[in-house]
Amino acid sequence: MLDWSEPSAPQRRMSPFVAAHAAAAPDQSGLGAIDRSGGRVSVDDKRMINCRADVNQLLPLKYKWAWEKYLAGCNNHWMPTEVSMQADIALWKSRDGLTDDERRAIKRNLGFFAASESLVANNIVLAIYRHLTNPECRQYLLRQSFEEAVHTHTFQYIVESLGLDEGELFNMYREVPSITDKAAWALKHTQNLDDPNFRTGTPEADQAFLRDLVAFYVIFEGMWFYTGFAQILSLGRRNKMVGIAEQYQYILRDESIHLNFGIDVINQIKIENPHLWTKAFQDEIRTMVREAAELEAAYGRDTMPRGFLGLNASLCESYMHFIANRRCAQLGLPPVFTETENPFPWMSEAMDLKKEKNFFETRVIEYQNGGALNWE
Ligand code: MN
Ligand code: FE
Repeated sequence: MLDWSEPSAPQRRMSPFVAAHAAAAPDQSGLGAIDRSGGRVSVDDKRMINCRADVNQLLPLKYKWAWEKYLAGCNNHWMPTEVSMQADIALWKSRDGLTDDERRAIKRNLGFFAASESLVANNIVLAIYRHLTNPECRQYLLRQSFEEAVHTHTFQYIVESLGLDEGELFNMYREVPSITDKAAWALKHTQNLDDPNFRTGTPEADQAFLRDLVAFYVIFEGMWFYTGFAQILSLGRRNKMVGIAEQYQYILRDESIHLNFGIDVINQIKIENPHLWTKAFQDEIRTMVREAAELEAAYGRDTMPRGFLGLNASLCESYMHFIANRRCAQLGLPPVFTETENPFPWMSEAMDLKKEKNFFETRVIEYQNGGALNWE
């Protein structure tokens, strides 16, 4: 008979190496032994990465922009089930309300997002969180994680409402090559961090961490999601799939904060660690942005081989170029494409995001002319 009062396995004991390392290294997870003689936290000791101050104490706040984004996220609370799907169900089930090309584009779009929301969530929780050693940023990551759960819930709700084939939609990222290519490209960068032995603290490791931030915040959420939103919102403007379009507007509002948080995180890490932001590294980031735009163009051609009213692959490609240049500017990098007009100017209105501000961007714009903010 098992005796539960006895330990069934030998007690875990720290090896001398681990013990020595633990004594020397700061507790970056917040789950290490309590430092009983630790003094009060000073703002000056707080850092984005490789922090030596206690990560379990939110206050005193250092990065007000992170806290403000946490509050903004909370103010934007919504649930997909609050949106009526009646009109979408009627249109989807009608024989001639949608063309085959429109159905193909809608399904691929939903399929791309359905698994991508989970990829983004897993990257935050399993890769980013451990290495971002600041409690106010972690507070935002916890809020963002919940929002990603709400977004995944949205696709479950759409599948259920329209009676779609759930396996077809959720497995699309493994079955449709133009979607797989995007997911695989981003996963390369999170896989580096997924190694249990990965630690920040060397220039190579810290750059690997920055690459992951760029891949997920700037490219996945900040570029690929934006063409996805534009596709569905363009249909919504023609009164098609208006329920999904409304849900996408809420998702877009959330994602624009995710993106701006990511940009602020990267820019703050740059300020604190200027040695990481070398010319070679900047070139590498610009190459990542260019590759990502090409993957999106291929996805657009595959998803909309003929195009339809208001939307086609070439418009989506121009939009991607416009967005790619804008992301570069937000990171302080020169543009990667020749200057392009925004082919979807209505996207700015769709965002209604006057409350949320990107800390760095707002300052830059105030220095220039105090002109209107553009939240794309
Ligand atoms: Mn999301
Ligand atoms: Fe997101």
